[in-house]
Amino acid sequence: MIKNSLSLINQNSNDSDVLGVFETVNTELFQLLKSSQQTYKPFLVSSGGTTSRAAADKHLILDLRKNYQNISFDLDKKHVEIEAGVTMGELSSFLKKHQRSFPIGLSGKTGMGYILTGGISPLSKSRGLAIDQIIEIKGFWGNGKEFHLLRPNTKEESTSEWKALCGAAIFLGIITKVKLKTQPLRPLISWTANLTFSQLSECINQAESWPNSLSFQWICGEDIFAHAIGEVKDTGDESILINLLERLPFSRNRIINKFNDMNSLPNLSLGNNKNNNSHHSEVLGLLGPAWQESNSQVLKILKDLINKRPNKYCYVASQQLGGVTNLNDLDTSFIHRDAIWKPWINGAWEANDQTKRKRSLEWMKECWNNLEFICPGVHLAQIHPHLEWHEKELSSAFKNWLPKLREIKAIYDPSNVMPPLNN
Ligand SMILES: Cc1cc2nc3c(=O)[nH]c(=O)nc-3n(C[C@H](O)[C@H](O)[C@H](O)COP(=O)(O)OP(=O)(O)OC[C@H]3O[C@@H](n4cnc5c(N)ncnc54)[C@H](O)[C@@H]3O)c2cc1C
Repeated sequence: MIKNSLSLINQNSNDSDVLGVFETVNTELFQLLKSSQQTYKPFLVSSGGTTSRAAADKHLILDLRKNYQNISFDLDKKHVEIEAGVTMGELSSFLKKHQRSFPIGLSGKTGMGYILTGGISPLSKSRGLAIDQIIEIKGFWGNGKEFHLLRPNTKEESTSEWKALCGAAIFLGIITKVKLKTQPLRPLISWTANLTFSQLSECINQAESWPNSLSFQWICGEDIFAHAIGEVKDTGDESILINLLERLPFSRNRIINKFNDMNSLPNLSLGNNKNNNSHHSEVLGLLGPAWQESNSQVLKILKDLINKRPNKYCYVASQQLGGVTNLNDLDTSFIHRDAIWKPWINGAWEANDQTKRKRSLEWMKECWNNLEFICPGVHLAQIHPHLEWHEKELSSAFKNWLPKLREIKAIYDPSNVMPPLNN
């Protein structure tokens, strides 16, 4: 163990009082974990450090940021290999030098957890999820044994272990390195604007019939801000995308712009959410099909929920999937392949105020209950083994695949060193 403090992006994690921090995966680490009487409870892994489970009070932390920074590019195959401390922004900048790109998410700050938990990008409708790009995966199972798995060529050749690692790896082991497919770097068209609820409803309606090269994301709190992102494959494409974007309604601040890469895009955030370190938060990601004729009903529910949010930093936002994310050439643990929207609920409260924390968590549950009819799935981009809804989030994320995942965990992580797959 080398230190007992760390500086993390997530405010809950950053403010936590940890037992100690490791920075290397080695036998000393596994011996210590083995000798621990409390099994999984005291140990957490952090790559990008952007979630509330990057660190927690009285936990041992494995912080991969410093010693897992390698990144290399195969000029022939156009594959990139990254270690677990590389952020998605760094990956994107590195690939730009080779005129290549990777479907990173809405923020360059996220780390390996983005890839391991599925990875929904604004480009996913045409590129697929981040897990769909994995060619090789290396690491240590929870039992301490090292592994190196290669992408199977066909569904028939695929193994349960591969399926489990693509989307549920964080429950099974410590991932140190992945090799990924990359794609050509292409210009992006970005449309941003502030909307009213009825304009948001109309935008969602239009976005549900867009081509795969265009996606829509929005955030709704004290204001509604939306961001459409399109990938320009050729000159003809650009005018088609701009035509579609010009049909979108907006109330103010509409900007249509062209960017070279994902790192240059504006953030999907509300003005009041920037640099807020006096608040803690939890995030719950949902998944569901197109809203279609339920659109106005969902918007009404959303408006009611936003109006009763207990803290001004609480919000609901969403990303769009579809296109090739609905295909599944190899089985993965991201089972909600029919999903078109990923709304996520952000519950915030003043740091260390337990009463307000409870109220915000209640509000999150109310949002979940009210939206579940249209978003029955869960995207475990953030896990909550410390909250009472963990069992429900697991079963909504993995459905019929959960029993088999538990069997795999019993083999490869029998002492529950990694986060639990039950309550
Ligand atoms: C600003 C912002 C924007 C986002 N945008 C998107 C988006 O567009 N699309 C999307 O899909 N998600 C998005 N997310 C969610 C984000 O990708 C997930 O929360 C992801 O898990 C974060 O990974 P991390 O490495 O940054 O965080 P961490 O907190 O370090 O890790 C997250 C979880 O993964 C586990 N973990 C991390 N690294 C490893 C490892 N090497 N081995 C084993 N377990 C590990 C940790 O135990 C932890 O539970 C966003 C999050 C933020 C904060």
